[in-house]
Amino acid sequence: MSSTDPTYVPDESSRPRCFLCGRPTFDPDKRQRQWVRAAVGGEQVLVCPTCQEDRPDWAVQLDRCDACGASRLSVMLGQVVCRACGHVRGESVEPAWLSGA
Ligand SMILES: [Zn+2]
Ligand SMILES: [Zn+2]
Repeated sequence: MSSTDPTYVPDESSRPRCFLCGRPTFDPDKRQRQWVRAAVGGEQVLVCPTCQEDRPDWAVQLDRCDACGASRLSVMLGQVVCRACGHVRGESVEPAWLSGA
């Protein structure tokens, strides 16, 4: 984390961006594709609607659920949770709140 860096601009760097093209998130029209939340290497990423249409291989880099193979994964507290079946990958034995503040 470089949040103490004097050049740090919270609004810009904290805004989620498309994993593939880097564009900031926006709200797509309801009739259009939606942003896809996924994971790469255990990190939460987002893929914009445009990349999903323009890149047939947009999903190849994404992590897959160990149980069902879905790529729609949420990263919560360092855990990768499958949004399709609820499988939690790498479930830690020690709860995060024990080692936290
Ligand atoms: Zn994109
Ligand atoms: Zn799954």
